[in-house]
Amino acid sequence: MRIFDPHIHMSSRTTDDYEAMYAAGVRAVVEPAFWQGQPRTSPESFYDYFDALLGWEPYRAAQFGIQHFCTIALNPKEANDPRCTPVLDELDRYLAKDRVVAVGEIGYDSMTPEEDEALARQLQLALDHGLPALVHTPHRDKAAGTKRTLDVVRASGIDPALVVLDHLNELTAGMVLDSGCWAGFSIYPRTKMSEDRMVGILKDVGTERILVNSAADWGRSDPLKTRRTADAMAAAGFTEQDVDQVMWRNPVAFYGQSGRLELDSTLDEPKPDDRSSFEGNSIRRGGA
Ligand SMILES: [Zn+2]
Repeated sequence: MRIFDPHIHMSSRTTDDYEAMYAAGVRAVVEPAFWQGQPRTSPESFYDYFDALLGWEPYRAAQFGIQHFCTIALNPKEANDPRCTPVLDELDRYLAKDRVVAVGEIGYDSMTPEEDEALARQLQLALDHGLPALVHTPHRDKAAGTKRTLDVVRASGIDPALVVLDHLNELTAGMVLDSGCWAGFSIYPRTKMSEDRMVGILKDVGTERILVNSAADWGRSDPLKTRRTADAMAAAGFTEQDVDQVMWRNPVAFYGQSGRLELDSTLDEPKPDDRSSFEGNSIRRGGA
């Protein structure tokens, strides 16, 4: 089984996670730029983070046989902090980079005027760069937040086929698919969407324009939720083709629209004895 996790924050995860993901079939990931839990206090803090998503983390992932791409944006939560918003003026130079396959995560957290402004500007950046957009939907008041997000996406003029709305559930899946956008589902261990609920949604709406991710980060989350959902699909009678569509071909089709998703089959092996380094740093210990 081959798995592409279209939304996972590997910078917050361990090398054990990379090993377990490889063993479970994960061969490619997209890491969206997001909030780190600790509020950032200056734009420069974002630039070092973006550089890590473009440099160190793809190097680290490759040691474990996993190809790593990213999305770049000012996240919804920090769009409310005036210390952070100057980042919007610098995004152009990051969105031009080869491994950036979308603008994201953008969207609403508390639905403030500042978030309106950041969302509209970043959808325009997606249009300017011909990139897809990864749009987070708010965890509180999800139906109203999703509806408003769809209105803003429509008003922006971006092709809905280039937009995924993420963190959806049974209440919001239908309206998003009807809009022509892609529907993203984050499968979490305790709250929100579970793998069994995801299987129920797939039975209702089918497998077209669906992305399933673990959204694993520094909070309670599980980087193997993609595999667990694939297994739940198989147990529920979905075919191998259906599972492959949801877990591999759909994310490849969605991010492939960037023109930058270069999947390299020669990278599909872990490199335990690799002597390479990134700017002089490696993941080895003690010179071994
Ligand atoms: Zn996320």
